[in-house]
Amino acid sequence: MWYLRDADIRTEDLGPEDMEKGKQWIMDCFAEIDERMAQGELGFPPTPNRFCQYCAYVADCSAAEPADKVLKEKTDEELANECLTIEAKYKAIQDELKKRVKKNGPIEASGVCYDFYQNATGLVIKDVTGFHNALVENNKKPEKYLQGKTGDLRKLLATIKADNYRQFISEKPGNKNFKWKPVEEEEEKNESA
Ligand code: SF4
Repeated sequence: MWYLRDADIRTEDLGPEDMEKGKQWIMDCFAEIDERMAQGELGFPPTPNRFCQYCAYVADCSAAEPADKVLKEKTDEELANECLTIEAKYKAIQDELKKRVKKNGPIEASGVCYDFYQNATGLVIKDVTGFHNALVENNKKPEKYLQGKTGDLRKLLATIKADNYRQFISEKPGNKNFKWKPVEEEEEKNESA
């Protein structure tokens, strides 16, 4: 075996016995597949896992249906499985809504409006070296502010020494996030605009 990532080479002698073992393993796998196929869908029960979020069948997956038990009676495994599949199902539904909004525009339903909403503007460091020097000169911890978190930068610009930093920081447009807002909220905003 040659592991390409770390150039590690491992050798092992394989004899007729090992070949026989390998052959038996493959035969067992085929026998198990045969047996499961004879049971139809029951032979392949869905097994929730962390990859459910990428599964194309989540919308129809029987494992995504909550078990008919009150919450407190469920085992840890049942609860974990339900969370995985419900999260995955929610993501699949939301992706479908996103596609429709992208194609046809905002969707209004049940008193809410789904759309891509603009977030508030953020701040960005435009001259890292200059900003670093200004922080050191003013006895501020560079490691805190060089992370470029908008909240930290805004606090800095609210201090009396803000003029020392302003030239190194600029506004950046906020991202757009897919979410819903109450319809009235949007109508009020449009009226006041
Ligand atoms: S959603 Fe259902 S079918 Fe898809 S990976 Fe999860 S358990 Fe399997």
